[in-house]
Amino acid sequence: MTKKWYGGIEAGGTKFVCAVGSGPDDILYEERFPTTTPEETIGRTLEFFRNVDVPLEGIGIASFGPIDVNPASDTFGYILKTPKLQWIDADFGQAIQRELGLPVAIDTDVNGAALGEWKWGAAQGLDTFLYFTIGTGIGGGGMVRGNLMHGLLHPEMGHMRLPHDRQRDPFEGACPFHGDCFEGLASGPAMEARWGVPAETLPTNHPAWELEADYIALAMVNAICTISPQRIILGGGVMSNLALFPLIQQKVKHYLNGYLQLPTIIDDMDGYIVPPGLGNQSGVLGAIALTQVAA
Ligand code: ZN
Repeated sequence: MTKKWYGGIEAGGTKFVCAVGSGPDDILYEERFPTTTPEETIGRTLEFFRNVDVPLEGIGIASFGPIDVNPASDTFGYILKTPKLQWIDADFGQAIQRELGLPVAIDTDVNGAALGEWKWGAAQGLDTFLYFTIGTGIGGGGMVRGNLMHGLLHPEMGHMRLPHDRQRDPFEGACPFHGDCFEGLASGPAMEARWGVPAETLPTNHPAWELEADYIALAMVNAICTISPQRIILGGGVMSNLALFPLIQQKVKHYLNGYLQLPTIIDDMDGYIVPPGLGNQSGVLGAIALTQVAA
């Protein structure tokens, strides 16, 4: 049997990752470039796929959002009102489909990454779990009973509201829509705006990390009480500081305050809130998985 090849596009807030492959062990081509204007970024994406010398079955797009994921809609694949202002109303998915003449499967970056983690990473064997990215933006997606979550549109867990103690943290928040939502308080750019330096340059003993873990833990408690996930995977640039994991795990227990007396919560927090099994490849592999599922 001839091997089938798929294209994947991880469209993130700071970078795009384009790849051709069929799974984690056989990525044939891969390229990363910064996310700039829609015209330039989509142009580079098209150029990458036009130079590929194997036939592709389809293209999967795992994109920042909000994005229209309803195939029956006229604006299917368009970016909607987003904090990334240049991309509002940008035709992304249909442009790729039209220019490359291939079937296109689209979902959010986090639903895509969740699917990748479910197939090959830290969510194998589970049917209800969440994947969050905490980086340039914050997003959450995942599966409920084996299906990626969609509904009115798709979950926008990065914009949930959190308790905000303005005495402890006077920063008003960085989300252009809500100010101090989860993303507005805890994204990479929010950390940079609050502390005046990029998050990755803050020393590990800086109070920024304690506060960051606090916001993430509050959001995780909301998610745990709402969705009842069997596991939560935390990826994205901010989470590359692995010292956040034990802080978050401990604070989640603290905020649950003895509620949910389950073995996983009591004894296995290490295995409950975890980094991605696919490292920084879950997004692009998830995009490939999206088109494999659709094919
Ligand atoms: Zn917001």
